[in-house]
Amino acid sequence: MSLKSLCFTKDWTLFLDRDGVINKRIPGGYVTHWEDFEFLEGVLEALKIFTGIFGRIIIVSNQQGIGKGLMTVEQLKAVDSKMKAEIILAGGWIDGSYYSPHLEEDAHPDRKPGTGMGIKAKADFPEIEFSKSVMAGDSSSDIAFGKKLGILTVFIGENQTEEDQSTKAEYNFGSLFDFAKTITQHSTLNTQH
Ligand SMILES: [Mg+2]
Repeated sequence: MSLKSLCFTKDWTLFLDRDGVINKRIPGGYVTHWEDFEFLEGVLEALKIFTGIFGRIIIVSNQQGIGKGLMTVEQLKAVDSKMKAEIILAGGWIDGSYYSPHLEEDAHPDRKPGTGMGIKAKADFPEIEFSKSVMAGDSSSDIAFGKKLGILTVFIGENQTEEDQSTKAEYNFGSLFDFAKTITQHSTLNTQH
């Protein structure tokens, strides 16, 4: 798909994964306290840019650490509010955040690649149109989630080596900031021509 189609307007929604996209992923572990949460480079700037472009920004994140008993819902909520406060301080905005506490082996529809969190977001924000939405994530389950809902998908990370079309994203950027910069360039181009 051409980069020219990366032209978004306020009737578009951006869905974002959290760990590995917004903050540093803890391999084999979970962000249980704010001290474990580290924004990836350029993410706060990227979120400020997205806030100026998209109508809605929604986080959808699997957090099976809760299902495993490694953290509580209260701990997750505390990290979520701190994260949002930092994003707001930096000039960005998050409209909603949805977390799935379910274990991977339970294959609950609310856990990505299931579509439950997307359906809930649309129930809360009926103006969301999946055909005018983008999902940015660093896992194949993020891409599968987006594709099942008819959402445009962006893989965040070094070259996605995926052959399976159900988990192969339409676009691939090294970071959320790279994605934001590209959109900005195209938005400028689009207003000039
Ligand atoms: Mg992730």
